[in-house]
Amino acid sequence: MSQNGFMKALKCRECGREYPLTATHVCEFDFGPLEVAYDYDRIRRSLTRDAISRRPQTMWRYRELLPVAGEPTVGTQVGFTPLVKADRLARALGIRELYVKNDAVNYPTLSFKDRVVSVALSRSVELGFKTVACASTGNLANSVAANAAAAGLECFVFIPSDLELGKVVNSLVYGATVIGIRGHYDEVNRLCAEIAGKYNWAFVNVNMRPYYAEGSKSMGFEIQEQLGWHVPEHTVVCMASGSLLTKIHKSYQEFSKMGLSSGSKWKIHGAQATGCNPITQAQKAGLDFFKPQKPNTIAKSLAIGTPADGFYALRVMKETGGHGEDVTDDEIRDGIRLLAETEGIFAETAGGVTVGVAKKLIAQGRIPRDSSAVLCVTGNGLKTLDAVVGHVGETREIRPSLREFEALLAKEKSEAATA
Ligand SMILES: *Cc1c(COP(=O)(O)O)cnc(C)c1O
Ligand SMILES: [Zn+2]
Repeated sequence: MSQNGFMKALKCRECGREYPLTATHVCEFDFGPLEVAYDYDRIRRSLTRDAISRRPQTMWRYRELLPVAGEPTVGTQVGFTPLVKADRLARALGIRELYVKNDAVNYPTLSFKDRVVSVALSRSVELGFKTVACASTGNLANSVAANAAAAGLECFVFIPSDLELGKVVNSLVYGATVIGIRGHYDEVNRLCAEIAGKYNWAFVNVNMRPYYAEGSKSMGFEIQEQLGWHVPEHTVVCMASGSLLTKIHKSYQEFSKMGLSSGSKWKIHGAQATGCNPITQAQKAGLDFFKPQKPNTIAKSLAIGTPADGFYALRVMKETGGHGEDVTDDEIRDGIRLLAETEGIFAETAGGVTVGVAKKLIAQGRIPRDSSAVLCVTGNGLKTLDAVVGHVGETREIRPSLREFEALLAKEKSEAATA
């Protein structure tokens, strides 16, 4: 293996200028975002279906297409989450075939962020960093804190101070320094950009962003392999910065270009909460650029009013013929309950957004009823109990007596009969 693994350079998405593979993320000429460029000819020779199938069931089975030079050292067990054939949910939504890619059970912190963090921290270690940090809407902070602890790295995480208790505790427990900023995510992010310029830390979603973002491709690689090396017709992805959506598209492009997947046409649909919908609002209006917003939604993990990859997410939807749609807080809760009651999967608010939007797109005919779709569920409901408590029914409480139980049962039956 060469000293850069299968990477060639960092490359500006706007002007194509190339940069060395260091901790940097913007082009000096036009401030375009930098992206990792790979040596696809070498990858093609090394990454075959056979080779992949023989490797351990983690996201690292696609390592040639992930931006680390040597073997990964952080998050080596992340990924390969279940792709669930969701027949009961399909019936409820009125579509022929439906799958749920379930990153609510990703290891170790129960969200898709473990994918991006294992890449960002493995690369940070390669580049010699001892301290890692992030600006986060919650899940990223959890994952950076946990994976940094396991790797023995010092860790600072910056979050809006009003996050769900579950997200806060899930960062504190690993011993990270958790800094709550009195402001929304976009202000947290702005502060982190300043700090990153001043301290020699690896900020996973600032100076390490080109590497970090590539980790999201693994979710799309797995979907294709789990569908029998096939690209799904329709994919619904929830969006915060919009990065995951663009990287799922890239994963489909890479696998089909390399002959690993069949299927050459796919539509990628973007989902947001109505209380923070800069990307879907622009998509619905037919615009190429979004207008920044001040978020107000229970889907706090998606509450980014100035999404860094919003422009590129809009482009992917346009190029693939996908649509954007958004759902209210009540529709998000309905989505969470529907997924739980039909498939036994408890997703966080972001998953409620994905399910709610899929329901709308199917009803609108934008995802045809005779087609097949994959819903990306990205986080676990146990972390956002605050959002659903009081909306999921109540415990029936009785004394430990058979008589009371039978009285309760009779009452429930008669209520069900009159309902
Ligand atoms: C971060 C996050 C997303 C989306 O992330 P992007 O910034 O769009 O890549 C989706 N779901 C959950 C649960 C998240 O934490
Ligand atoms: Zn440039």
